[in-house]
Amino acid sequence: MTEQAACRGRLVIISGPSGAGKSTVVRQLLEVSPVPLHKSVSATTRAPRQGERDGRDYYFLDRDEFARRRQAGEFLECKEVFGRGDWYGTLWSEVATGLEAGKWVLLEIDVEGAWSVEQQVPDALTIFLHPGSMDELERRLRSRGTETDQSVRRRLEVAQREMAARQRYRFEVVNDSVAQAVQDICRILKLRGDEARCSKN
Ligand code: 5GP
Repeated sequence: MTEQAACRGRLVIISGPSGAGKSTVVRQLLEVSPVPLHKSVSATTRAPRQGERDGRDYYFLDRDEFARRRQAGEFLECKEVFGRGDWYGTLWSEVATGLEAGKWVLLEIDVEGAWSVEQQVPDALTIFLHPGSMDELERRLRSRGTETDQSVRRRLEVAQREMAARQRYRFEVVNDSVAQAVQDICRILKLRGDEARCSKN
C-alpha cells in the first residue's frame, strides 16, 4: 500500500456566525492547505446571492427537491436555518466522493449541523471561526449590504447563540485578518496531517 493510500481522509468542520468571513477564509484556505482539502458543496433552498453559482457555492434546490432528497436519506445532516423556511444540508455523496479519493473533506456548516456530524463521525476536526466580538460581527453584516435590517437582526440573534457554543469546538480561530486566520487553520491541519502522516496530492 502506498503512503497516500494508507493516509485516511478526514472530516474538517468549520462553523462560525454568519458574517464571520467563513467563505473568504475557506476560499483562501483551499489554495494553500497543507493537506489535500476538498470542500463539500452543501444543498440549500435559499435563493442564490449575486455572484453565487449552482454547484460551486451551493446546490440550489427547490423545496420539493430538497424534501425528496431528504426523504431518500441523501443527507448526512440537514436542517432549517434561521427559522424562515430555508433548508441547508450536507449531501452524503459530497463527503463520500472526497473521502474515497483520500481527501480531507471540509464542511462549512452551522453549529447544530456540526453536532449532528460529530455524533456520527467523532474524530471530525471541529474549528469555530469568529470575528472576536458581536459589535464587529454586526459591523461586517451591515457593510455586506446583502441583508435587510430584519435579516441582520435575525442573524445576530442566531450568532449570539452560536458564539455561546464555541467552547464545544476543538479549535477556535479569531478572524481579525483573513491571512492570519488562514495561517492558523493551516497550522491546525498540518499538525493533524503530520500525525496522520498525510501528504498533499
Ligand atoms: P448563508 O446563507 O450565509 O450561505 O449560510 C447560512 C448558514 O448556513 C451559515 O451559518 C452556514 O454555515 C450554514 N450552512 C451552510 N451549509 C450548511 C449545511 O449543509 N448544513 C448546515 N447545517 N448548515 C449549513
